[in-house]
Amino acid sequence: MAAVTLTNVVKRFGIFEVVHGANIDIADGEFVVFVGPSGCGKSTLLRMVAGLEDISGGEIAIGGKVMNDVEPADRGIAMVFQSYALYPHMTVEQNLSFGLRMNGNPKADTERRVRKAAEILRIDELMQRRPKQLSGGQRQRVAIGRAIVREPQVFLFDEPLSNLDAELRVQMRVEISRLHKELGVTMIYVTHDQTEAMTLADRIVVLKAGNVEQIGAPLDLYDDPANRFVAGFIGSPK
Ligand code: ADP
Ligand code: MG
Repeated sequence: MAAVTLTNVVKRFGIFEVVHGANIDIADGEFVVFVGPSGCGKSTLLRMVAGLEDISGGEIAIGGKVMNDVEPADRGIAMVFQSYALYPHMTVEQNLSFGLRMNGNPKADTERRVRKAAEILRIDELMQRRPKQLSGGQRQRVAIGRAIVREPQVFLFDEPLSNLDAELRVQMRVEISRLHKELGVTMIYVTHDQTEAMTLADRIVVLKAGNVEQIGAPLDLYDDPANRFVAGFIGSPK
């Protein structure tokens, strides 16, 4: 069980409040996309779920357990960022296994997890290459692989495709959808790209200036936007 629940979550940086009491319920296995313009608080919300940012008020629970004071490593999550900082001097295989080795994970289990991730992402052939010998899409696959080997209950993606060209973005979108179906785990995906949100999400959370404007399935938002902002952002005529 890894439902994710945000209850009245507030974030302040100094005197500036940037998230104003967010309530978001994410079901176990659901693919939820946070979408909204730059600066609306998407990354901040995700970083609070990950534990990379303290929360100023409210509560975040994962799998029914309150996470407010739990270290990132103990939250059962893995995060994929836009800048996929791979270790340049390590092979793909070493990049995938590094975190597990550092945590003292048993060798046989580490090898099993790395093999499984490589298979899921179809990067078996690239295991002995170094990052500079990979294309952008291949590098992003390795970055996702590093999340997969941790066998998280919840995947967090922060604009993972922003650095890729348009064609590759579409291709990786399909890959991420497939990954979600194959692994069946909860995914929270942040983007400012409406098309990405509409095609990936089971449900979309539309954010504007630190407020949740509407939560719903893509077509429900399209057919019945709560307000002009949602209508304009999702692209329906209302
Ligand atoms: P998004 O990811 O939607 O573009 P962010 O979550 O990065 O937005 O930022 C939300 C707001 O919080 C912005 O106004 C941003 O300037 C502010 N902010 C983000 N991080 C910090 C920080 N470390 N210190 C001060 N303000 C921040
Ligand atoms: Mg951001």
